[in-house]
Amino acid sequence: MPIITLSNVQKSFDHNHVLKDVSFSVNQGQVVALIGASGSGKSTALRCIDRLETINSGSIEVCGHKVEDPHVDLRKLRQDVGIVFQSYNLFPHLTIEQNITLGPVSVRKMAKAEARRLALSVLEQVGLADKADSYPEQLSGGQQQRAAIARSLAMKPKVMLFDEVTSALDPKLTGEVLRVIERLAGSGMTMIMVTHEMNFARRVADKVIFMHQGTVHESGTVAILKTPATPALQEFVSNDL
Ligand code: ADP
Ligand code: MG
Repeated sequence: MPIITLSNVQKSFDHNHVLKDVSFSVNQGQVVALIGASGSGKSTALRCIDRLETINSGSIEVCGHKVEDPHVDLRKLRQDVGIVFQSYNLFPHLTIEQNITLGPVSVRKMAKAEARRLALSVLEQVGLADKADSYPEQLSGGQQQRAAIARSLAMKPKVMLFDEVTSALDPKLTGEVLRVIERLAGSGMTMIMVTHEMNFARRVADKVIFMHQGTVHESGTVAILKTPATPALQEFVSNDL
């Protein structure tokens, strides 16, 4: 049963045709690795799912929301879809706990005490229970990224989108963030992760979608990484060796 469906999505920025008839679906609980060279349209595809970009034609349905519908309830859509980027975007003047409780209190109208309990529980999930009262600048990059993931989880999303969340981190910090994502994947969270960590993708992904020049060029299980059907994926995986 798909929880995310893109059908014949076209997206251009002026004359730059970025998504060319992109169709794919993600089932409940599925972990999808979205891979491809820089500029192939991965980030744009993710941003369209959360309506951070509007599409030119085609349709996108996420958790029952018709995303391209001008009347879609963006607040509800974005409550259901958590998105985490390479840059953490934590508010520097707020503590980690305040960063996390902001959404639940202001958007979900949650009582402060309940939001505080929620913050501690999501911080526990990402291994940062002791950092609730710290400010972002007091944390390492990996810790800040885990706090950003915790902030998303506090909104109780039904799906999570990760866009190269480790590409600004050194290998040790990358590992601690990937472990958090892997645990989340194991807990049954539906997710699409754009990643260059191919070993991680091989281990965690149920499905791989390879984008090439704005199209879904190849998709399937992680087996496609071992035996690509197309020269483009062949070249992409060989660059990773
Ligand atoms: P990827 O994430 O695979 O590297 P992107 O989706 O970021 O690819 O970019 C695909 C293409 O869309 C690139 O040519 C990029 O320059 C262009 N693009 C992305 N975002 C914008 C934007 N906001 N305005 C104009 N062009 C954009
Ligand atoms: Mg990108």
